[in-house]
Amino acid sequence: MDRSDNDAPRARGAPPPCPQPRRVLRTGTYLHTSCPLCRAEIVEGDWIHFRAIAPDGALGDLRLSARFNVFDQESTIALGAGDQVRDLACPRCGVSLLDAKLRCAQCGAAAVRIRVAAVRTELDLLLCSRYGCHWHDVPEEDRQRLVLEQGP
Ligand SMILES: [Zn+2]
Ligand SMILES: [Zn+2]
Repeated sequence: MDRSDNDAPRARGAPPPCPQPRRVLRTGTYLHTSCPLCRAEIVEGDWIHFRAIAPDGALGDLRLSARFNVFDQESTIALGAGDQVRDLACPRCGVSLLDAKLRCAQCGAAAVRIRVAAVRTELDLLLCSRYGCHWHDVPEEDRQRLVLEQGP
């Protein structure tokens, strides 16, 4: 009897990759925000809190809405539309959160990088540092797993 069938090697390759569905970050989602450097939470109630340096060098506080695609903000420094803050820093460790390389794709201002936990994942979110500019994005490496819902 021919038993060669029993000797046939079994397919031992890794199972085919199971593509993960991309999550969607929807307008109004609460962003549990932390500093990407010291990991301290920088969200207080409905606001993400930054230490800000105004264009004229004045030091103050800047708060952005912790709801995705909601662009409310409060500031103790005077900012007009189009103004670009000189710096936005973590209120806990004081280190600048301006990204050294990434710029806003709409106006070219420096991008701010924060760490957010939302839609059952954790990711970096990039924001424009120019007052009134609503550009935001996720870093290249996160685009495969997350889609940002377009704002109103
Ligand atoms: Zn920090
Ligand atoms: Zn911008």
